[in-house]
Amino acid sequence: MSETAQHSAHHIDVKEFHPRARAAIHNPQIRQNFRKAMDGLMTKRKSAFEGWDLETLRDLGANIRLRALANLPDLLEQLEQKLTENGITVHWATDGDEACEIVRDICLARNAKSVIKGKSMVSEEMELNHYLEEQGIEALESDLGEYIVQLADETPSHIIMPAIHKNTEEISQLLHDKTGTDLSHDVEYLTANARLQLREKFMNADVGVSGVNFAVAETGTLCLVENEGNGRMTTTVPPCHIAVTGIEKVVPNLEDVTALLALLTRSATGQHITTYFNMISGPRKADELDGPEEVHVVLVDNGRSTIYQDDELLDTLRCIRCGACMNHCPVYTRVGGHAYGTTYPGPIGAILMPHMVGLDEGRHLPTASSLCGACGEVCPVKIPIPDLLVRLRQESVDGDTVHPAKVAGHGAKRSTVEAMIWKGWSWMHARPGIYRLGTALGARFRKLQPGKIGGWTQYRTAPKLAAKTLHERMKERSQ
Ligand code: SF4
Repeated sequence: MSETAQHSAHHIDVKEFHPRARAAIHNPQIRQNFRKAMDGLMTKRKSAFEGWDLETLRDLGANIRLRALANLPDLLEQLEQKLTENGITVHWATDGDEACEIVRDICLARNAKSVIKGKSMVSEEMELNHYLEEQGIEALESDLGEYIVQLADETPSHIIMPAIHKNTEEISQLLHDKTGTDLSHDVEYLTANARLQLREKFMNADVGVSGVNFAVAETGTLCLVENEGNGRMTTTVPPCHIAVTGIEKVVPNLEDVTALLALLTRSATGQHITTYFNMISGPRKADELDGPEEVHVVLVDNGRSTIYQDDELLDTLRCIRCGACMNHCPVYTRVGGHAYGTTYPGPIGAILMPHMVGLDEGRHLPTASSLCGACGEVCPVKIPIPDLLVRLRQESVDGDTVHPAKVAGHGAKRSTVEAMIWKGWSWMHARPGIYRLGTALGARFRKLQPGKIGGWTQYRTAPKLAAKTLHERMKERSQ
C-alpha cells in the first residue's frame, strides 16, 4: 500500500460491537424494522424454492464454486486474457487503497469530475465514495437503497438491501430534508422523485462504477444482477465504465452462471429472476449506437489470497453474496447490520471481515453467533459457516496446534487465566484417576458451587454438578 493511497478511513470501530449491539437491542424501532424485513425475505425465499430439489441445486452451486476456487490462479489468467481480447482493460489491486488509486487514475486520465455508481460491496470495502470525494471527484450512488444511505451519511446495513434498517417514514423525512421532496409516505412518489434526480446525474456522469456478480473466464464476460435498471445505466450511459470485483468472483464457464443465478436470486430476494441481468463483454463497437468507449475491470485481492492459502478458510471464498445467512441469523435479525461496524455484517461478515481487518480488531465477530447452524443450512453454496466461526474463535484465542494460525491478529482474545483453566481441564481429562477424584470431590462439595458465574449467568441458570457421577449411577444400575 503506498503512502499517498492511504485515505482517512470512514469505518466504524469494529471492536465496539458489544455496546452497539446492546444499543440496537434496546431500540424497538431497529428491531421492528429488521424483524419485519427479515420475516418477509425468509418467506419469499422459501416459496421461491418450492418445487425445486433444493439440496441438489445447492450441491451443484457448491461444486461450481469449489471447482472455480480449485483452479483460481489459472482461471484468473484466462479471464484476464479473454477480457483483454474483448477490449477491456484489466487492473490488479492488492488492497482497497490500491484499488481506489486505480479508479482515481482512470478518472484523472479522462479529466472526470463525476462518477455514478451501481451497487458494489467491493467498492464499500474500498470506501471508494469517501476516497473520491477527498480527490475532488463527486461519487453518487444510483441504487435506491445505497442512495438513501449515502444521503443519510451511513453505511449499508445489509449487503442486498442497504437501507433495510429504515422504514418508510424515516426515508420520507430524509428525502424531504436532503432533496426537498414532499413529506409523503407514498412509495411510488418517493421513488419517482429519486429516479428524476438520478436520471440527470446519469446523463452528466463522466464515469460509471459497478460491481460484478460473476466473471466468466471462458468468454471474458462480466455478469451483473440487479432490479432497478441503474446497473444497466451505470454500465452503458457514461463514456467510461469501471467494474470493481473481488478475485474470487470468477467462474469457469457461461453455463455455470445459470445454476448460480437461480440460487442467487431466490436466496437473496426470493425472486425467480431479477428484473435485469447484464452481460458486459466489452466497450462499444464501431457499429453500435450506445455503450461506453472504455471499459476497465479492477480485480481486488484485499486479503482473499491469504484466505485462499488455507484449505479450511478457503470455503469463505465460495460466497455469492446473497445475504440469506444474514436474513436467517438470530443475532443479525436482532442487532441489525450497523452493530457490526463492518462492510459485511452477519454470518458472512463474521467469517470474512477478520481477514480484512485482522482478529485484533475483529475478534468479537466470530462470537456474534449462537452457532444454531441456520446460516449454514440456507447458504446456497453450502459454506460450512458454523465450522468456520469455530475455527476463527480458536484462532482468536490462539493455542491452536491443529491448524496453523493464518489470520492476522490471532490470539487477540487470549486470556492467560482462561487458557490455564482449559489446560488444567484437559490435563485432568487425560488422567482417569485424577478425573475420578475431581468429579467425586466436585459432587461432594457441590453445595459450595457458585450460583453466579459473571456474564454467563446474567441470563442463564448456572448448571449444578450432579450428586452422583455417571460411573456411580451405572454401577448402581448394574447391581
Ligand atoms: S455465506 Fe452463503 S448465505 Fe451468506 S451471503 Fe454468502 S452465499 Fe449467501
